[in-house]
Amino acid sequence: MKNFRYIDGAAILKLNEEACIGCGMCATVCPHRIFTVQDKKARIVDYNACMECGACARNCPTEAIYVNPDDGCGCAALIINSWLSKIRGKPVTACGC
Ligand code: SF4
Ligand code: SF4
Repeated sequence: MKNFRYIDGAAILKLNEEACIGCGMCATVCPHRIFTVQDKKARIVDYNACMECGACARNCPTEAIYVNPDDGCGCAALIINSWLSKIRGKPVTACGC
């Protein structure tokens, strides 16, 4: 996914390392390989590749990750769906990722 990126610095992904128990779910589910786990703690290794799909936050058992596609501008699917919704005249409230 190295060639499928959004805008540098636009993501709202946040990781609370104190709350992390190192289970590795975020690294497993992230389609863009944002996370690695070292010494039982998740680390963000490629912040600007985050597309704010929300999979990591949904699967984190300790709520150590915050990201909300509806809050920010980073989800490409949400942006594209929003453009299409204007053409189609139908409201879009979620990206569908
Ligand atoms: S929001 Fe999606 S792309 Fe971003 S770090 Fe989480 S799983 Fe990866
Ligand atoms: S899913 Fe949550 S608890 Fe598990 S490694 Fe990632 S941040 Fe840590």
